[in-house]
Amino acid sequence: MRFNPKARLDTSRVRDRGRGSGGGRGGGLGGGAGGGGLPIPGGVAGGGGITGVIVIVLFIVLTQCVGGGGGTGGAFDTGRMADTNRYESCKTGADANKSADCARVAVENSLYDYWGDELGSTFRPEKEVDTFTGATSTGCGQASSDVGPFYCPVDETIYLDTSFFDDVLERQLGGPDGGFVEPYVLAHEYGHHIQNVLGTMGKVKTQQGPTSDSVRLELQADCYAGMWAKAATTTEDASGQVLFESLTDQDIQQAIEAATAVGDDRIQERSGGRVNPEQWTHGSAQQRVDWFTTGFRKGDLDACDTFASGAL
Ligand SMILES: [Zn+2]
Repeated sequence: MRFNPKARLDTSRVRDRGRGSGGGRGGGLGGGAGGGGLPIPGGVAGGGGITGVIVIVLFIVLTQCVGGGGGTGGAFDTGRMADTNRYESCKTGADANKSADCARVAVENSLYDYWGDELGSTFRPEKEVDTFTGATSTGCGQASSDVGPFYCPVDETIYLDTSFFDDVLERQLGGPDGGFVEPYVLAHEYGHHIQNVLGTMGKVKTQQGPTSDSVRLELQADCYAGMWAKAATTTEDASGQVLFESLTDQDIQQAIEAATAVGDDRIQERSGGRVNPEQWTHGSAQQRVDWFTTGFRKGDLDACDTFASGAL
């Protein structure tokens, strides 16, 4: 992965909230982790990390809607720190080639440009990509690092504790440590924003099981990530500059390894349980790889229709 050193970066939608202490570990979006390890959100055994997150988010959204939109009050006061200047020095692709923080900005810019082209007038940018450490408050409730990267449809923001990539994905989920892992994760979360824009998220009714709407939603987000990866090196910004100079087979392989590591069956195996598809929320390792690859090969929204009958 290499960025065009001359391309300008736009930091306007990426911000760092710094270290929040709010609910601390265990006070996460899912309502408590226990043991300081991965959370087991929504009663899904072995869930955690990237997995399980959208389920929690949707659950919270639903309960808030049903409950009249309340229940957020005090939670908003904690964890909300002054922004840091983490992204201030990110001006060009050259900065993105040197710094993981600036690379994050570049990936957000590329996703923004790509989906703007792809959806045209339907496109609505995400509000922000927010990084934090420890804990932060969100439109979907209080989030701690335990929860992993997630998209909150209420405030249309992607939240990312950047220690996730060092800590959780590599050490606990056994995923690869490498350059294109975070872009894949960001692209997956951005895919959820696109689903929100397109109204797909509202169709999710069944939350668990091998052919549940939740699994279809998650596999589609992987497919959308693949679509972007295919187009990244030809996507231009508003001034006609391409931000991604190169993306190698090795980069794509890293995305595939990350998708494998967060497959529901792999997570169930690692947590010592048996593989039980009835508890799946995100799809198996093989399915996640297949749908990422479908998006990457076909580069087409229709090809990513995981809700079509027989699609899985
Ligand atoms: Zn997801």
